[in-house]
Amino acid sequence: MRKKIVAGNWKMNLDYNEGISLFSEIVNMVRDERSGDQSVVICAPFIHLNSLSQLAAGVIGIGAQNSHQQESGAFTGEVSAKMIKSTGATHVLVGHSERRQYFAETDQLLASKTVTALQHNLTPIFCIGETLDERNNGSYYQVLETQLNDGLFHLDEADFRRVVLAYEPVWAIGTGLTATPEQAQDIHAFIRAKIEAKYGMAVSDDTTILYGGSCNPSNAAQLFAQKDIDGGLIGGASLKSRDFTDIVKTFNS
Ligand code: PEP
Repeated sequence: MRKKIVAGNWKMNLDYNEGISLFSEIVNMVRDERSGDQSVVICAPFIHLNSLSQLAAGVIGIGAQNSHQQESGAFTGEVSAKMIKSTGATHVLVGHSERRQYFAETDQLLASKTVTALQHNLTPIFCIGETLDERNNGSYYQVLETQLNDGLFHLDEADFRRVVLAYEPVWAIGTGLTATPEQAQDIHAFIRAKIEAKYGMAVSDDTTILYGGSCNPSNAAQLFAQKDIDGGLIGGASLKSRDFTDIVKTFNS
């Protein structure tokens, strides 16, 4: 059975003390609110990973927001999957739209980042999504299919099963515009059909696909009630302990 996950993405926010303080609140609140078959993950800036892993107390998984595709070497300023793993982190975002847009990350690069992350036993949360132009000009199915084909479908079945997907329409990230539950379900069903065509129905049924894009306590329940949506990747609302916990709680309601 596929896992339900609510993952927070703190982006480039919170200094060291602010991160510890918010995370401590989240651990205490989420401990009482999550259900047994649900995972909660916080993807934090690198400076937080080790401390948060120690505070997580088995309640919350810790993820990085990026990792380098090479094992090690002369890549000043970069952080490897092995380093991330050594902090106690368990997950890593791959291909967030802000990485694709501001750091020119291509599907080919993301394909190799995914392989390296898996080699170090990190769970990649692989993000795909279309821009507003692509939504408006009707090319979005093709865009998403290319992101899947070029970024993920090089994996064999065993490795693919270790990946979590996140559908994040770029036009909904940080904008306050959310995909309607019907729009999101339509795309999640499309993604699941592509996975089925590539890896078969059993793999497709078991793949966790998160929705991300201005998800908040008011819209999470309707989104998560869709049959192909298995949780959320939460940006802005993960910076408020009450909002984030309320989103986690929607799985119990
Ligand atoms: C994100 O950064 O992945 C995201 C979904 O952000 P927001 O929830 O703020 O739209």
